[in-house]
Amino acid sequence: MVTSPGDIVIDANMKHTEGKAAMIVWSQATRTVLGVLVVLVILVVLAGAVSIPFRFESSSMLYKFGSAKVMLQIGKVLGMVAGVLLLIQLLWSARIRFLDRIFGLNNLFRFHRLMGITIAACALLHPILVYLPDNTLIIPLTKRYWPELVGLGLLLCILSMAITSTFRSSLRLPYEFWRTAHRVAAVVVTAGLAVHVLNVSDSFGRGVPQTATYWAIGLWVLLFAWMTAHRFWIRIRPHTVAAVEPAGRDTVRLCVRPRTGRAFAYAPGQFAFIRIRSAGVRSEEHPFTIASSPQRPKELEFVIRLCGDWTRSIATVQPGDQISIDGPYGIFSHFRCNGHAELVMIAGGIGITPMLSMLRYMADSNDHRKITLIWSNKTKDDVVLVDTFRELESRLPGLRMHLFFTRGPEAATTGDRLNRVILERLLMDSGRDAAVFICGPEGMMAGVAKVLPGLGFSHQRIFTERFSL
Ligand SMILES: Cc1cc2nc3c(=O)[nH]c(=O)nc-3n(C[C@H](O)[C@H](O)[C@H](O)COP(=O)(O)OP(=O)(O)OC[C@H]3O[C@@H](n4cnc5c(N)ncnc54)[C@H](O)[C@@H]3O)c2cc1C
Repeated sequence: MVTSPGDIVIDANMKHTEGKAAMIVWSQATRTVLGVLVVLVILVVLAGAVSIPFRFESSSMLYKFGSAKVMLQIGKVLGMVAGVLLLIQLLWSARIRFLDRIFGLNNLFRFHRLMGITIAACALLHPILVYLPDNTLIIPLTKRYWPELVGLGLLLCILSMAITSTFRSSLRLPYEFWRTAHRVAAVVVTAGLAVHVLNVSDSFGRGVPQTATYWAIGLWVLLFAWMTAHRFWIRIRPHTVAAVEPAGRDTVRLCVRPRTGRAFAYAPGQFAFIRIRSAGVRSEEHPFTIASSPQRPKELEFVIRLCGDWTRSIATVQPGDQISIDGPYGIFSHFRCNGHAELVMIAGGIGITPMLSMLRYMADSNDHRKITLIWSNKTKDDVVLVDTFRELESRLPGLRMHLFFTRGPEAATTGDRLNRVILERLLMDSGRDAAVFICGPEGMMAGVAKVLPGLGFSHQRIFTERFSL
C-alpha cells in the first residue's frame, strides 16, 4: 500500500486530521520566504547561463566590432535565456508539491503559460540578432549548417507550442489531444535544444558550458521520469465510488471512499485530479475541488457540472467503480488567513465548490465567525445542493448568504451583473479587513476583483481560484 506523509488513518481522532490539514497550507510568511528563495535560485542559474557568451567567447565574436558585436551578444544572451527558461518550464507543470504549497498549482500553470510566450519571443529574436550582423537571415541548406537547421526546427516547434497553448480554445483543440501533443513536443524540443546548443557554438564544445549543459539535460530527464512515475503509480491514491447522485440541473455529486482504509488530509478549498475507471468513461485525469469537509475523511465528495464530453459521461459511473486521486493541491483556502478572520466569499455557478468545502469545515468545527457569501447563478434552476446550503445556514450563525441571478425573471430583481453598486450594497455590513475568496467564470472574477479594492478591500487579502489550468 502506498502512503504519503499526508495520509491519515480513518478512525484516528478528528484533531489529528485537523492538524495535518492545517499544515498543508503554509503561512504567508513561510510562503514568502520560500518563494523569494526559489526566485533567487532561478535568477542565479539564469545569470550563470547568460554570462557564458561573455566568459567563454565563441570564435564567431572574434571579428565582430561595435554594434555588430553588441547585436550578436544580445542574440546569444536571448538564446541562453530561452534555453534556461525552456528547461525549467517542467518545474511549473510537474505538480511538485513543494512549489504548489508556495505558489499554488493554479498560479504555477499560469506562470508556465506566460513563460512559454516569453521563451517564444526570445527564441524568435535569437537567430535574427545572431544573423543580422552578417547581413543575412537565410541559413544555407548545406550539411555544414546542420546545427543551425536543428535550431530552426526547434524555433518552429517552440512557436507552435506557444500558439496552440495560447489559442487552444479558439483553435478548438480538444484538451486531451492538445496536452498529449504538448508533452511529446516538450521531449522533442528538449532533445533538439541539447543537440543545437552542444553543436552550434564552440563555447559549448568543452569545459564548464559543456558540463553544465549535460547536467541540465540530465536533471530535466530525471524530473520528467519522476513526474511520469508519480503521475501513474506513486502518487495515486486508490478510491472506490460510493455514490453518484443528482445535485441540481446538469450537476452530480460523486462520493468516493479510500480503498486502502487510509484517507488523506486536505485543507478545505483544495482540489485533486481524478481518473475514473468505468466502462463508459474515458481514462483521463480531470481537476475537481474536494467539496466535502476535511473533518469527515471517510468519504470525499466532488460536485461536478456536466458541461463537456468527459463530465457528461460521469452520469454512467456506478457505485463500486474504481477511481484514482492525485492531490490535494492549491492554496485557495481560508486556512491562509488567521483563525477568526472575517470572510467574504463570492462564487459564480459551480465555482461554489471550494466555498462549500470551507463552509462545511467551519460548520463541523463550530466556527461562528462572520461570513458573507454572494453566489451568482444564471437562474434559480441553476442553484445546486439547495438543501445542503439551507442546512449550512442553520449551522453557521455568522453566515449571511445572498443569491444573485444574471438571467431570467430573477435577474430583474437582483440586477444582472455583480457591478460596483450591487457589490457595495451586498457588502455594506462586511469589514474592509475581511479576506475575500472569489471563484467563478473568468469574466466575473476579473470584474469583481477589480471593483473590490475601490470599495476598501485590500489587494493582499483578495484570493482567486480559476477552474482552468
Ligand atoms: C482547480 C480546478 C478546480 C475545479 N473544480 C471543479 C468543480 O468542483 N466542479 C466542476 O464541475 N468543475 C471543476 N473544475 C472544472 C473541470 O475540471 C472541467 O469542467 C472539466 O475538466 C471539463 O471537462 P470536459 O472534458 O467535460 O469539458 P470540455 O468542454 O472538454 O472542457 C472544458 C474546459 O475544461 C478544461 N479541461 C478539460 N479537460 C481537462 C483536463 N483533463 N484537465 C484540466 N482541464 C481540463 C479546459 O480548460 C477545457 O477548455 C475545476 C477546474 C480546476 C482547474
